[in-house]
Amino acid sequence: MNITTKILIWMIAGLTLGSLINIFAANNSVIQNYLVNGLFHIAGTVFINLLKMLVVPLVTFSLICGVCGIGDINKLGRVGIKSLALFLLSTTLAISLAILLAVTFSPGESHSVSRDTSDHFVAPEAPPMTEVFINLVPGNPIAAFAEGNMLQIIFFTILFAIGLLLTGDQGRPLIDGAEKINAVMMQIVNIIMSVAPYGVFALMAKTFAIQGVGMIMPMIGYVGIVVIALLCHVTGTLMILLKCLGKVSPIVFLKKIRAAQIFALSTSSSNATIPITLKTVEQRLGVDNSTAAFVIPFGATINMDGTAIMQGVATVFIANVYGIELGISGYLTVIAMALLASIGTAGVPGVGLIMLAMVFNQVGLPIEGIALIMGVDRLLDMLRTAVNVTGDATITVIVSRSENSLSTEVFNDPSAGLLEPIHFSRRASK
Ligand code: ASP
Repeated sequence: MNITTKILIWMIAGLTLGSLINIFAANNSVIQNYLVNGLFHIAGTVFINLLKMLVVPLVTFSLICGVCGIGDINKLGRVGIKSLALFLLSTTLAISLAILLAVTFSPGESHSVSRDTSDHFVAPEAPPMTEVFINLVPGNPIAAFAEGNMLQIIFFTILFAIGLLLTGDQGRPLIDGAEKINAVMMQIVNIIMSVAPYGVFALMAKTFAIQGVGMIMPMIGYVGIVVIALLCHVTGTLMILLKCLGKVSPIVFLKKIRAAQIFALSTSSSNATIPITLKTVEQRLGVDNSTAAFVIPFGATINMDGTAIMQGVATVFIANVYGIELGISGYLTVIAMALLASIGTAGVPGVGLIMLAMVFNQVGLPIEGIALIMGVDRLLDMLRTAVNVTGDATITVIVSRSENSLSTEVFNDPSAGLLEPIHFSRRASK
């Protein structure tokens, strides 16, 4: 059985067990203390930490190899501009689709505002936009690495790699070293993937034991439209872009991206999923390391199609609930704000709500309205993160194709990059 199928089975098992605990054992203190907040919590958090542990070193060494592999600063600039333009395009399409669907189906018109919940809501603070641009350049790179600040790490690592290239022969041993460390990091990703089924199981079981799916019912209008828009974006918009611009088969792409989607779904974090997304696009989809190492972490930080979709639907929903007319200019502001907000915030769980506060502020919607959708946000966060990661991978394939560096042989080979059983007795050759 391949690893993706195995993870999928464990994911469904976790979801089922968690939902059963939520229904039948919500007040059973033994199950809650020892299982949900004990075993599941520990195993799930350890698993997320295992993934997060890899992000900074993997991105750093992969990016050094990538930039030095390109060896041409012009190409680097081209890849950067293309990916940024495509990220902006796909996010704009995502949020426009979401607003269109939400305006058509008008969720929330019959919803009565519950003052109880909204009065107690404290709006999360959104980062000011000016800071986002200033903070691109790390004043202290060590601090950037320690904090895992992805845009600053990308900035510093690219400069470092350009420095290495310019150093010529003297820099060569460091480039070779980075390549070796990168290969080691990829092996560690394989090890972590082999224990992923249990980690994913624990995360799903815990989330569903705490959340349950019952709370979706009163919010079914809102949740339904978000889910439909997410599905349309992944299977429609993104795949049309992939077919037209990348000229590769969307079916093959969707089959191969599944592992990364499941990791995103269970961790709710594009950032924590970076190691798996990188491995998938390079080894399963045939993207060259130079493009993948730059576009994937860049996308995980600034490209959030799924989050933008949630924001589009949430804005229309809350406007309907409070009876506020937004009008065309309001919607255009929402699109612009959601774009800026997705650039300014990192791919970590729950960040979409903070960004939503920014959007609401700008269009004059009551921030406390966010309280209404908070209850279902944990579950929607899972789905939208899977869409965010799919968007990053789609754009990476398109950019790689446009640079003529996508291996269609690997892309079309169903068994390319599949995880092989790990033999710990294997020794490094002398
Ligand atoms: N969890 C999402 C991500 O990591 C961001 C969000 O929508 O909250 O991509």
